Parts: sequence; structure tokens; C-alpha cells
Amino acid sequence: MSEYDDLRGRKAALEIDPEQFRMLGHRLVDQIAELMGGMRDRKVTAGAPPQVIREKLETERPLPESGTEASEVLEKASERLFEYSLYNGHPKFWGYITSSPAPIGVLGDLLASSINPNVGGWLLSPAASEVEVQTVRWIAEFMGFPADGSGVLVSGGNTANFVGLLAARAAKATWDVREKGLRSSEGRQMRIYASAETHTWLEKSADMYGFGREAVRFIETDGSLRMDVEKLREAIERDTAAGDQPFVVIGTAGSVSTGAVDPLDDVAEICREYDLWFHVDGAYGGLAAGVPGYGDELAGLRNADSVAVDPHKWLYAPLEAGCALVRDPEALQNAFSYHPPYYHFEEEAVNFVDCGPQNSRGFRALKVWLALKQVGRSGYERMIRDDIRLAEALYKILDGYEDIERFTHSLSIATFRYVPKDLRDQKKKPSVQEYLNELNREILDRIEYGGEAFVSNAVLDGTYVLRACVVNFRTTLEDIEALPDIVLRVGVETDTEMRREKNPV
Ligand SMILES: *Cc1c(COP(=O)(O)O)cnc(C)c1O
Repeated sequence: MSEYDDLRGRKAALEIDPEQFRMLGHRLVDQIAELMGGMRDRKVTAGAPPQVIREKLETERPLPESGTEASEVLEKASERLFEYSLYNGHPKFWGYITSSPAPIGVLGDLLASSINPNVGGWLLSPAASEVEVQTVRWIAEFMGFPADGSGVLVSGGNTANFVGLLAARAAKATWDVREKGLRSSEGRQMRIYASAETHTWLEKSADMYGFGREAVRFIETDGSLRMDVEKLREAIERDTAAGDQPFVVIGTAGSVSTGAVDPLDDVAEICREYDLWFHVDGAYGGLAAGVPGYGDELAGLRNADSVAVDPHKWLYAPLEAGCALVRDPEALQNAFSYHPPYYHFEEEAVNFVDCGPQNSRGFRALKVWLALKQVGRSGYERMIRDDIRLAEALYKILDGYEDIERFTHSLSIATFRYVPKDLRDQKKKPSVQEYLNELNREILDRIEYGGEAFVSNAVLDGTYVLRACVVNFRTTLEDIEALPDIVLRVGVETDTEMRREKNPV
């Protein structure tokens, strides 16, 4: 007898026996299959306001003291989630840059969490670590980036870009920046260069890692929203003359607003000339570099020192999966590794804890790896190419609509707006400009909550535009053909209502 006798043959509250697990799992998989099968006939979103969601999901209740039967918890959760979620797996979802999840990746996540390897250390994840090494290499191979470098999977494009920036910092600082920090730069300001169209990850990281936002030189863009490389050169020269230390230039391979691609070859050339690290943010467009006939302007990313790409965008991996690639196989270790006494490591293999900011790491490679195996290079080439062609088709179709004004088309993004007939000739008038911005903002709001289709927006030189981005293997030409009429119908409706309140002319 001891005070621990209750622990003999312990049965914990969380345990689910294999028979019940099988039952619950089969039921859930059946429900998911039905959801996927019926996706086209659902709305993209229920469009319910926050308070309704909170009530339906009971998210304002306090933590329950005791539990509920697993089958009941799962049943209720899946039912509510199915009803009140927004589906980026819907064929008419074209918002932001978020893909439909590959079904094999959905199963992959289940498999990955069942094994639950900790992919921080090889010893804890021998199979998973090797799968991640191969996944990273395949991603590099697909894009034509040197496959003998190294890389790591992270949560997304933001983190992949952070990793590239930190690799650049460690490689190019003229002192031991990891030991001494930025203050030891002897007053020399480290400088980062990027186009004005760069995603906000750069501001976040300049802030988070102590460079400060003022360390970033945002370089003007040309008429196509591509970095002006002459302006880049001038900025580097000016800062160098002032005693600063330029260390990295960021090229964007597919901007988040319009899909603009910086002149990557020219940027690479300047980086060589001034001995700067060349990082490419290819979170959106990077993978299109692997598509013959469409990737030409992206090919320059192959000369980068580091590239960020997002498998949860154009590899259609379920969230989350980003990937940082580096040319120098040592660059990640040089930026991230430590060897504390409590780690016992396999030396002959990669320990991903040494390659990035994370410690314990999940098996996010599996969902990406399975999909790459399922369809191969040719499958991805075809899907990415078709996404680009669908955006192109949309842009052409929109040309036939008098009340729709088109703006840009690049990669798989098309931008446009609704302009009522009587305002067409007065677009330059400030009061009309302001009204059209307001009108299109309201149209977007109604489309997004309406659930027929989902687009997002961009602001181009002060003009508010609607933006469709096709990173969706479910989208067909019929889906695309349906969009203009939705925009027109909502446009007319919204305009009529808004004109009751005010006259823009
Ligand atoms: C999506 C995107 C990011 C951010 O990536 P997340 O996966 O959302 O973290 C950064 N840069 C570009 C160009 C992107 O398209």
C-alpha cells in the first residue's frame, strides 16, 4: 500500500481506446469527405458577424470544470465549424494569397500528428527529419534554386523571410553580431534595401530584431511597381558614403498587391558589385519560377543567397508551411545554432533546431512531401500554370464589361474596380475619386460577407481596387466567368443605395 496506488494501471481522462478511435475517426473522415464533395454548392462563408460566431461556437463560456464525451465534443465541433467557417478550399475563393488545401495534405496532417515526431533533433525524428531534408531539396529543385544548399520549413512566408534576414545579418556583419548585438556596430547603421512594395514582414522583422524600421531603405518603384535599380544603387552609394553598413537587398518575386516581380537579375548584379546579401521574398511567386514559359522573369531568384517560399500558397499545403532556402549550406547553422550541454545529437545528420528559430518542431514536411509525390513536378507545373491562365482569362473577360475598369495583371493576380456609367468620364475629379474608393470598399465588404465568391483588395496609387488572386486548384473557368456578374450586381445595388445618401458629382 502506498499513497501512489491509484496510479497502478492508470487510465488517463484523455485516452481513447483504439476501437472508439477507429469509430470517431471514420465518422469524422466521412463528414470531411462530404464537406469536400459539397464545397461547390456551399457559400464561401456564412458571413455571420462576430457576436453570432461567438454564440454559435460558445466561445465566451468559461473553462468547463469537467469533460464531455469525446464523440459529442467532436460531433458538435465539426458541425459548428463546418457551418461557420470561411472556406479557402472553395472554388470561388480568390482572396489574399491563400490556397485550397490539398486533400492528401489534410490526411498528411493526421498522419503526422499521429506519429508526432519532434523534428528539432534527428534522434527524435529520424524518418521525419530525412523527409524534411528531401522536401526542402525538392522545393529548391522545383524552382531551379541550387539544391546543394540548405533550408528549413517554418510557419509561413513571414518566418521564412525572417530566417533569410537573420542569415544575412550573421553572414554580413563585420563583427560578431550574434555575440555582441547591434549596439557593437561602432555607430555604423546596418542598412536593408527593399522595394516600396515589399510585404509588411520587413517592417515587422526590422522592428523585432532591433534594426529599427529606419534601417530599411524603401526603394521607389517604376510604373509596373518593380524596384527601380538605379534608385537602389544611389541609395547604397549614399549610405556607404555616410558611413553606414549596407548588408542586404531584398527582391520581391511576386508582390502581394499585384504580383509585381522586381528585376531580380539586376538586383543580383548590384549585390555582387557591393558584396551584399541577396534575399528574395518569393512567398507568393517563387514557386512559379519552376513553370516553363511563365517563370522567366522569376529565374533571377536562382542567384539569391536566400529565398523565402510558401508551400501553403503555391504548393497548396494546408496551413501552415513556409520554407527558407539558402545557397551556402552553412548559412543557417551560422545564424542559429547553439550547443547546450543538455542536447545529445546525432552528428551525421541534420538537427533542424540548428537551422532556424524554433526548438520543438512539428512534422510539417509530411503534407508537403506527400503532395509532391502525388503529382510530381509536372502536376505542379500544370496547376500553377492553370492558376496563372485563369487570372489572365479573368483579366481578358473583364475587358468586355463597360462598368468595370481594369488595372493590373501579373502572375495569378488581376485588379479591377466597378465604375458606374455616369462617372466614367469624371474619374479624375477628387470628389468622384473619393466616392469610387468608398463605393468599391463597400462592394468588397458585401462580396466578402455575401459568400458567393471571395476577393480582396489593393490600393494602387490611392485608388482602391478589387483584387482576385487565383492560388486555387479547384477553380475552373466557369467559376471565373461568374465573377464579373457578381461584381456588377453588387456594384449596381451598392451604388444605388449610396447615391441616396450623397451625390459624388
Ligand atoms: C504571403 C506573403 C508573405 C507572408 O507570408 P505568410 O505565409 O502569410 O507568413 C510575405 N511576402 C509575400 C510576397 C507574400 O505573398
